[in-house]
Amino acid sequence: MACKLCGMTSENVAVKQKLAFIGTGIMGGPMAGHLVVGCHDVRVHNRTKARADALVAKGAQWAGTPAEASRGRDVVFLCVSDTPDVEQVLFGTDGVAAGAAPNTIVVDHSTISPASTREFARRLAAQGVTLLDAPVSGGDVGARNATLSIAVGGPTTAFEKVLPLLGLLGKTITHVGESGSGQLTKCVNQILVAVNNMAVCEALNFAVRSGLDPVKTLAVVGGGAAGSWQLTNLGPRMLAGDYKPGFTIDLQQKDLRLVAEMARDSKTPLLATALVQQLFTMAQSHGLGAQSTHALYEAVKGLSAVPSR
Ligand code: NAP
Repeated sequence: MACKLCGMTSENVAVKQKLAFIGTGIMGGPMAGHLVVGCHDVRVHNRTKARADALVAKGAQWAGTPAEASRGRDVVFLCVSDTPDVEQVLFGTDGVAAGAAPNTIVVDHSTISPASTREFARRLAAQGVTLLDAPVSGGDVGARNATLSIAVGGPTTAFEKVLPLLGLLGKTITHVGESGSGQLTKCVNQILVAVNNMAVCEALNFAVRSGLDPVKTLAVVGGGAAGSWQLTNLGPRMLAGDYKPGFTIDLQQKDLRLVAEMARDSKTPLLATALVQQLFTMAQSHGLGAQSTHALYEAVKGLSAVPSR
């Protein structure tokens, strides 16, 4: 009989895998949820247990530590904040490395340093565990709707093994190269996202200050060559002053720091990105760090002597 949720039948139940998901925050929570609904055997761990309660109610099993979550699992997913957090979850006391058996594949969906990713991959490989870096793009909406874009770095064989699972989380899943390439691709994504965010803020502020109806302006320019995901999704929220995250300015700054580090290594000037990074710092200094990235609009509005609203 086919499962009502995922369509899996008793004949193909052999494809059911033993999984773990560590880090069930804004992104990891819904992503882990798709794996549970996909009828896999999913263990979850989160530093703050309460943020995993909804997943346990859906059928996931709670694990008290990353090591316990990883023990006997085929694939261990992570989605935590920054590079030191991934290091802690992987190699800290009771970390993934203490629980995972050889042949386990670890899929890291966090956005972290490409260079550290390569080092983590080498350390895990020494015990027969494969690390794939698989940062995601598409925001909390993409996580909830399973429409994320996922750039994967690491061995092709491991990528092919986890591809059906990644298909439960996203729509555009691409193996982009060796270890660290996924994170580098995410850096490219963040340059585009940050600079485009700035363009939307500046254009809307100009429209409002010039006396145009901003809603009509958004509709017109969004339908033409200036259209973008940021304009369509974040523009109306800027106008409404709705800055609930989503993706926070603090996390965006973390990503721009990673971009700046990689650009320094490759001696690549990033003029517009550096400017946006400074404006985000301004927004942080106004207490907006925990708000969604489009609260940058407030910093841009504040550059004019008489704010537009
Ligand atoms: P979030 O809601 O703040 O979740 C962060 C998760 O990491 C939480 O589960 C948190 O545990 C855990 N964590 C942080 N430090 C830890 C540590 N030292 N040890 C163990 N667990 C730790 O953030 P998020 O928005 O889901 O972001 C997660 C990752 O996805 C980040 O790398 C972010 O850049 C990336 N990302 C986010 C978005 C987005 O739109 N939000 C989009 C694309 C990519 P607690 O619950 O205990 O705090």
